[in-house]
Amino acid sequence: MIIETLEEHGYEAYAVGGCVRDSILGKVPADWDITTSAKPEQVKSLFKCTIDTGIIHGTVTVLLHHVGYEVTTYRIDGEYEDGRHPKEVLFTPSLLEDLKRRDFTINAMAYNDSHGLVDEFDGIGDLDRGIIRCVGDPKKRFTEDALRMMRAVRFAAQLGFEIDEKTRAAVQELAPTLKKVSAERIQVELVKLLVSDHPERMRDLYELGLTKVFLPEWDVCMVTEQNTRHHAYTVGEHSIRVLQEVSMDKVLRLSALLHDIAKPICKVTDKNGVDHFEGHPVRGKEMAREILRRLKFDNDTMKRVQIFVRYHDERPELEERAIRWAVSEIGTDAFPGLFELKRADTLGQSEYMRKEKLEAIDKFQEIYQDIIEKQSPLTIRELAVNGKDLMELGVEHGPMMGEVLKRLLAHVLDNPEDNTKERLSALVRREML
Ligand code: ATP
Ligand code: MG
Repeated sequence: MIIETLEEHGYEAYAVGGCVRDSILGKVPADWDITTSAKPEQVKSLFKCTIDTGIIHGTVTVLLHHVGYEVTTYRIDGEYEDGRHPKEVLFTPSLLEDLKRRDFTINAMAYNDSHGLVDEFDGIGDLDRGIIRCVGDPKKRFTEDALRMMRAVRFAAQLGFEIDEKTRAAVQELAPTLKKVSAERIQVELVKLLVSDHPERMRDLYELGLTKVFLPEWDVCMVTEQNTRHHAYTVGEHSIRVLQEVSMDKVLRLSALLHDIAKPICKVTDKNGVDHFEGHPVRGKEMAREILRRLKFDNDTMKRVQIFVRYHDERPELEERAIRWAVSEIGTDAFPGLFELKRADTLGQSEYMRKEKLEAIDKFQEIYQDIIEKQSPLTIRELAVNGKDLMELGVEHGPMMGEVLKRLLAHVLDNPEDNTKERLSALVRREML
């Protein structure tokens, strides 16, 4: 529709990039990008509803039936400022010039109904062969924009493709220049790789020298052996298996990646040569916060990942009271995700006691389920008395109040049947005034 309107007014217009690639692969594209010879002002004059998304880069979003389409004028990226964003963009009348600036052959195809597929760089061939290959000279392209190295691995992970040899060698050589790229842009590519079908490509990021730049803690994991009956792989290889076992959820995948991140610094080898990693969940939580902050993740993601890292190895006694205490401390928001992570963690370990470990998780979950169904009180908010009730009983507002509420919660975690206004009031009168 948009393409036809532009063509009717004498401009060229094509669907381009990811949507063409995905259509050829038989996938439904997440969004449709359009490239056109029309200048942004001309695009705006042809459509009723437009948003100036990135006018200086030539991008206008056209709204059609409540769907936004990014329409970008043919452009050449100008001078690159040391591997970051181009300093300026130049418009060009030539589709070919626009396709040349794109990163990979599979992303450099254009299509419209009147001209069919425009594929100057054999993107189709590379899609067939399953190859990620730079458009033009890889070294030059990675020097222009170092993020493309992350993108190469990310697309390989999403599509299950291999990276072409020359492209790979160029990443190997230029990986250290990734340091010029902002954390925000790296984060986007890392997350897309993690939530893909092939999160094991974290191994490629390591082998190519990319994680060394933005996640050196991961490199240490990849070479930390675990000499214990419970494990069969290095910390990194174990974490990769956990990544493959959890669902494609951003927080779960980040948690799988980071759950054992503190093992290298917690590792102690005893006199029998057996490794121990005491305290790694607590140290890991701190490290996860540091790493996620450095990579500019939002607070909500940071908090949720930290909880998973902190409690991934939590194994309360398998009886109601202990599990009430544990769930109260961990918070119900972490469930059932935490069970998924624990199962994945087990499957990434050696087979030693695997059946018993999985049974213990099942039992943990069963008892948890039971507690939730019974609506046993687990937080101060769920107590049968509130601050106002306590004031009427004579508890002073302030730190004392908090203390009493905490003790009441402790009491009902041990005795959930006591969570009535009468019993708790009596308890306060008897013991806490
Ligand atoms: P996704 O499905 O993740 O959106 P995509 O291929 O659409 O994949 P985008 O990041 O949305 O990827 O970029 C759209 C298109 O713009 C790409 O297909 C590619 O042609 C081009 N492109 C994006 N980023 C770069 C870059 N850093 N260097 C060169 N070309 C790029
Ligand atoms: Mg896209």
